[in-house]
Amino acid sequence: MRITLAELELHRITASERYAPGSLDFHGAEFRQAAPLKLDATAELLGAEIRIRGHLATRLDASCDRCLGAVEIPVSSDFDLFYRPMESIAKEEEIEIPASELEVGFYSGDGIELADVATEQVLLSVPMKVVCDSECRGLCPVCGANRNLTLCNCAPSQHDSPFASLKEE
Ligand SMILES: [Zn+2]
Ligand SMILES: [Zn+2]
Repeated sequence: MRITLAELELHRITASERYAPGSLDFHGAEFRQAAPLKLDATAELLGAEIRIRGHLATRLDASCDRCLGAVEIPVSSDFDLFYRPMESIAKEEEIEIPASELEVGFYSGDGIELADVATEQVLLSVPMKVVCDSECRGLCPVCGANRNLTLCNCAPSQHDSPFASLKEE
C-alpha cells in the first residue's frame, strides 16, 4: 500500500496491513521472516512532512552467531516516524536536526510505500549480535562439536588460551 500526498491532503490515512513471509525484501539480511507481519498505522500530513505512527509485529528465524543454532526473534515495535521531502535536504543542509527529531527519514516523489516502512522498522529491531543465549558456549574450534551439548576432549586450542582474547581485540 502506498501512502500518497494527494490522499493525505484530503484526510489522514489509517492502514492495517499484513505481509506474508517472503513478500518483503530485507536486502539479504541474515534472518528469515517466519510469520506474517502485521502492521497498523496512521499517516498524516504536517506541513510538508508525513508522520506515520503505529505498531508492527512479526517473528523472525535466525541463527546463533556462536553455535549456529536456531534463534527465534519476536519483533513487536511501536514507531512514530517523520518523513521529509527529499527535495528539502539541499535547502536545509545548514539546519541542525534537533535530537528529539532523530527519527526523521525522507521520501521522494508522491509518497511512501508502507512496505518500506515495515522493512526498515524490522531491520532496526534486529540486534547486531544474535545469540541463542548470552551463556552460549559456541562450537569447538577443533572438532566443531556444539559445546552447549557435548564436552569434547579436544586439547584447548590457542583460541581458548587466556591470551586469545588479547589477540582477538
Ligand atoms: Zn548459540
Ligand atoms: Zn572439540
